[in-house]
Formats: sequence, C-alpha cells, structure tokens
Amino acid sequence: MLTTMVENYPGFAEGILGPQLMEEMRKQAERFGATLIQKDVTRVDFSKRPFLIEVDRDVYEAKSVIIACGASARLLGLESEWKLMGHGVTTCATCDGFFFRGQEVVVIGGGDSAMEEAIFLTKFATKVTVIHRRDTLRASKIMQEKAFKNPKIEFVWNSVVEKILGEEIGKVTGVLIKNVKTGEVTEKKCAGVFVAIGHTPNTQLFVGQLELDEMGYIITRNGTHTSVPGVFAAGDVQDHIYRQAITAAGSGCMAAIDVEKFLEH
Ligand code: NAP
Repeated sequence: MLTTMVENYPGFAEGILGPQLMEEMRKQAERFGATLIQKDVTRVDFSKRPFLIEVDRDVYEAKSVIIACGASARLLGLESEWKLMGHGVTTCATCDGFFFRGQEVVVIGGGDSAMEEAIFLTKFATKVTVIHRRDTLRASKIMQEKAFKNPKIEFVWNSVVEKILGEEIGKVTGVLIKNVKTGEVTEKKCAGVFVAIGHTPNTQLFVGQLELDEMGYIITRNGTHTSVPGVFAAGDVQDHIYRQAITAAGSGCMAAIDVEKFLEH
C-alpha cells in the first residue's frame, strides 16, 4: 500500500508499482470467481459456528476464515513523511535499499529492525546515519555490536527527525534533526529516510478470540492454523520476521490449501 516500485516480487523482471501489483492480484482472484467486498470489518465472533463477521450492520457467516490483515509500519506522524512516502521515505530496506546505491540515507529507530536495516543498507549506501531518540539502543547486544563495528554506520543520539525535506521537488533531500536534550536543530542531507520504529499487527479485532503472541501477532501452528479450528492466518498478521510480499503471498496460498482441507474434512 505504501510502496511505489516493487523490485523483489518474482515474475516482474522490470519491477511493478505496488498499487498495480495489487490491482493485478485482485483481477486474477476475480477471474477465478472471488467476490471482493471492500469494507472494514467491525467485529468478529469465532466462538460459534458458522463464524460471524460484522461490517457495520451487515453480518456475514462463514464456515472458515482466512485472516490476512497485515501489520502496519509505525510512522513518525509527520506531514512531510506522509507526503514523501514512496519518494525517498520508506519502511522497508529489503524492498527499497537498492534505490539508494551510492547515496546517503538515514534510519530512524533504535531497535533490532533499525539495526538490521542500517546494516543491510550499507551494501548500497555510501553512509547510513541512525537517528535515535535516546542515548542507548533497544536492539539486542549482538545487533548493536554489528552496527557499531560497521564503518559506514554513524549514530546521532538523543535526537528526533522534525521534518523531512524535499516536498517541493517531490523527493527526499534531507532531514531536520532536533536534539531533544539541547533543542538544537540541524539539517542533514540524505536521499532516503528509512522509518524503522516497529510494526503493529492489525489484530485488534481478534483480541480475546485468537491466541496472539506478546507483540500481538496471531500465533499459527502447523502451517496457517490459528488457535480456533477453521480460522487461518496468512501474511504479516502472523509473521514479524520475513514481512515480504512474496512470503505473504506464499502463506496466503498455504492458508487456501489449509481451508480446503478443513472444509473437505
Ligand atoms: P522495537 O523493538 O519496538 O523498537 C522500536 C524502536 O523505535 C525503539 O528503539 C524505539 O525507541 C523507537 N521508536 C518507537 N517509536 C518512535 C517514535 N515515534 N519516534 C522515534 N523513535 C521511535 O521494534 P523493532 O525494532 O521492529 O523490533 C520488534 C521485535 O522484533 C523485537 O522483539 C526485535 O528484537 C525483533 N526483531 C529481531 C531482529 C533480529 O534479531 N535480527 C530483527 C528485527 C526485529 P525507544 O527505544 O526509545 O523506545
């Protein structure tokens, strides 16, 4: 949803725009008879059968359900971040790192994701600056050590990004960094901003109905089975490790096969 060019989805040698990829998938599903209803689910009840899915006043009944609500990347909440999303601002180094070959980038965050993204980005970027709001990292010791050892990675401590620059030309040119201790604001030139401050799985609807892990992701076992027989989960809503379109699509296929077996049984 938030990406422009997708370069790492198999079958598209020249890459494909994120929204276009989704449109193609939608058409393909419709060609095989899928009916798509584009509405926000407001409540589910998995305690009785058939399962109930409520969308405002409409209630749908289902013998089986696949949940694929994904996880949302946490964002800083800046207007400039939203405007430049996909134009230099990104939430996925694996997807977009390649575009910043030979350029400087910043990574925001102090957790394992931020360290992983920073280390990965050193393969392409000339310099990676990690901006963290405190003076200690949340990341695991091993990831911290790897990042500290990497000569291409620099840290800016006790600092937050106040504004992402480049709106007037439609692509990132730098960031305004505010030191939270001194209040001093400095400008840093860069071509890319990787927001790596964590993800929130979209599982609010399922609290108390399905087994979730401590971070809120749906726990799946034996393929895509959740804690309720007949309810399956696929993609980032149950995966905080790989988080790629291709792995999500693959687990979607697994869920479809699991549903078919469940219904036949
Ligand atoms: P995380 O551990 O929640 O870290 C989020 C980081 O972003 C924290 O440093 C936090 O700062 C910062 N942050 C949050 N909101 C912010 C804001 N509004 N402005 C500025 N900074 C903000 O998330 P994560 O790094 O995605 O990791 C999630 C889980 O996956 C963790 O359990 C992690 O260990 C695991 N993981 C593991 C690996 C690995 O082992 N290779 C890789 C990726 C993820 P504070 O520290 O000040 O709170």
